[in-house]
Amino acid sequence: MSIRADGPGRRALLTGSASLAAAFLAGCSSTEPIDGTYKAGLAPSAGPPPGTPKAAYERLMEGNGRWVTNALRHPDRDPTRRQLLATSQQPYGAVLSCIDSRVPPELVFDTGLGDLFVMRSGGAAVGPVITGSIEYGPMTSGTPLIVVLGHQRCGAVSAVYEALREGKQLPGNLQAITEALRPAYEQSVRESHADPAEAMAKAQVKLTADALRGNRDLAPLVGKGALAVVSAYYSLDTGVVEVLNGAPA
Ligand SMILES: [Zn+2]
Repeated sequence: MSIRADGPGRRALLTGSASLAAAFLAGCSSTEPIDGTYKAGLAPSAGPPPGTPKAAYERLMEGNGRWVTNALRHPDRDPTRRQLLATSQQPYGAVLSCIDSRVPPELVFDTGLGDLFVMRSGGAAVGPVITGSIEYGPMTSGTPLIVVLGHQRCGAVSAVYEALREGKQLPGNLQAITEALRPAYEQSVRESHADPAEAMAKAQVKLTADALRGNRDLAPLVGKGALAVVSAYYSLDTGVVEVLNGAPA
C-alpha cells in the first residue's frame, strides 16, 4: 500500500513567514511529503494522510469510535512505518491536550506513528511556546486540523478553580497555569454552572480554539478552508470525544 503526499497544494503553503519558520525548523524535523512505498508490516495501514480539514477530522473521529467500542486497529505502528518516516513526516493533525495520564491523544484517536503533532500541558493551558508548537504544522507543512482537547475531571482545572475561588496562589511554576486558565475560570463563574470546574474545562478549550482560529498566522489558513480548529471534550467514563465547536462542515 502506498502513502503519497497530497502534492503541491500543501507544499504551496510554504510561503511568506511560513517559509521562514520552515527554514528555521528544518534542522529538527523534515516536513517533506512522504513518497515512500509502505509495505505491509505488523500493523494495518490507515492509508495516505488526509489532506483536508474534514477528512482529517473524520479520520480522528473514526479512530475515537474504535477506542470507544474496543475495535482498535493500532494502525501504522510497526518498524516498517518507522523506517518509512525516518527522514520525513506529514502529520495530518495537531492535538493540544492535558498532561493527564488518562488522555493520550494517540490512544484515544487510535492513530499511528507520524500521524499527529502532540502538545500537552496542565489543563491544556497555552502560552507562547505551546502556541508556536501548535502553529508549526499548519504554518510549515499544511497540517489541516488542530484539536484542542479538554477532559472530564481535570485535576489541573479543578486545582486552578479552587485556587482562584479562594484567592490563593498555587506553588512555584504552577501559578503560571493558574494565570493561563484565568479567562476560562472567569467565564465559568459568569455563566454560573451547576458543575463549575467541568464548565471551566470546556470553556478553556473553546476559548483556546477560538483564539487559535482567529490569530494572525492561522486565521488566513482557516479563511481559505485549509485549516480547521476544533475544541473537544473527552469523557473519562466512556472514552467519547465530544466536539464542542469548530467541526469542519
Ligand atoms: Zn487534565
